[in-house]
Amino acid sequence: MTEPWSGDLADIRAELRVWLDANWEPTLSLVEWRTRLADAGWACPAWPVQRCGRGLPQLVASIVADELFRVGAPGVPDGVGMHLAAPTILEHASEELKDRFIHPTVTGEIAWCQLFSEPGAGSDLASLTTKAVLDGDEWTVDGQKVWNTSAHHADFGLLLARTDWDEPKHGGITYFAIPMHQAGVEVRPLRQMNGHASFNEVFLDGARVPLTNVIGQVGSGWAVALTTLAYERRLASLRANLPRAERPGRALREASAEQAVAFEPYKWYPQRAGRVDLVVEQAVAMGKNRDPLVRQEIAHLIALARVAEWTARRAAAARARGRPPGPEGSLGKLASSAIARAAADIHASIAGAAGMLTGVDSPLDGTIAEVLVSVPAVSIAGGTDEIQRNIVAERILGLPKEPAVDRDVPFRHVLKNVRREPARQEA
Ligand SMILES: Cc1cc2nc3c(=O)[nH]c(=O)nc-3n(C[C@H](O)[C@H](O)[C@H](O)COP(=O)(O)OP(=O)(O)OC[C@H]3O[C@@H](n4cnc5c(N)ncnc54)[C@H](O)[C@@H]3O)c2cc1C
Repeated sequence: MTEPWSGDLADIRAELRVWLDANWEPTLSLVEWRTRLADAGWACPAWPVQRCGRGLPQLVASIVADELFRVGAPGVPDGVGMHLAAPTILEHASEELKDRFIHPTVTGEIAWCQLFSEPGAGSDLASLTTKAVLDGDEWTVDGQKVWNTSAHHADFGLLLARTDWDEPKHGGITYFAIPMHQAGVEVRPLRQMNGHASFNEVFLDGARVPLTNVIGQVGSGWAVALTTLAYERRLASLRANLPRAERPGRALREASAEQAVAFEPYKWYPQRAGRVDLVVEQAVAMGKNRDPLVRQEIAHLIALARVAEWTARRAAAARARGRPPGPEGSLGKLASSAIARAAADIHASIAGAAGMLTGVDSPLDGTIAEVLVSVPAVSIAGGTDEIQRNIVAERILGLPKEPAVDRDVPFRHVLKNVRREPARQEA
């Protein structure tokens, strides 16, 4: 068991303040500044020493964020790199890969995307058919991925591909870090029903991956993928966290430009979470705050949101004590879906038919309409509600596993994407 941490947060804050006095210079480039943060271990205080961290509890990260904000300094980048790639690499990759990827991910020199889903493998991710074949000192990859957020400006992808077709479906998968800027990788944007284009299709046609870019062991990619998925379930919404400065120096200017690009695909994420923060304000503005049914729905929503927040804090406290993310992430994700849907329903009751309008004169300049068409994404991204319920049933409640006929046979013999022809009408 991990020893409980016995340090003093006030001492840590004091030490950080001394360090910031000596090291924060607004005229540094963003990479130079983040290199200082990383080398001193303040970039990711909960990560290991030598890996941009200090081995401190996770809650120190919020102290660092506060102090950086106070002095007007930018922190580490947000997104797939910091939230999914780096934690997965720290847990599973070779020391050589950690040396190569952790530091530039923290400084923002490389950006990542997640190449998991395929047209025929979403919930049943282990049915993926993108294949990687060893060819000399490189892997050659062929296949198609889909719904890949931010793939259009990623330098590397977290790629799952099949390397052994004679193993059962979970056994023949390998996890790679694939370079995105190469001839064999084609990224095509997809437009969503809310008008944004955050996702892409990624076509892999003879794409090359260096031999050493395997994260974990060849054929053990499923276990590595589970780590990424567990982090994804807990992924908080990205937030604009840059301090304001009247005359920003170079580091802040570069961070702001970086954020404008990195946040573009996530601009609608507050709306997909349901905009609980706007519910009371809107009810008052539209004179619905005296409607007993609306009031009751709002009270239910706020209670749900508050309880979910406490659950998330309990999970964060467990993490701060060194526990890895577990199936409880599924409960948080289910709660987010329920809250988003309840908030969208209330916004619809308050706004009425006008809630469907966008553009000039629409409620909150189209924000309510965007909530209504963005909320369904919460129940899908990072594993659908039904899949989270399966996880809760099997791993928390200990109920029997979902029946499956394809778990133990070589993947080569599993029927894939087979469409049954309609029965011929007898004359
Ligand atoms: C906002 C967003 C961002 C995303 N970003 C990425 C990304 O960056 N990278 C990436 O690789 N993917 C990404 N995805 C894809 C996402 O992971 C998949 O959409 C998701 O896993 C569901 O897969 P699917 O769309 O193929 O649906 P399917 O798996 O085809 O599911 C269809 C329906 O069947 C239900 N169903 C399926 N299996 C079961 C079962 N066993 N029991 C009960 N019901 C079941 C599902 O719950 C769902 O309702 C993103 C999706 C969204 C919405």
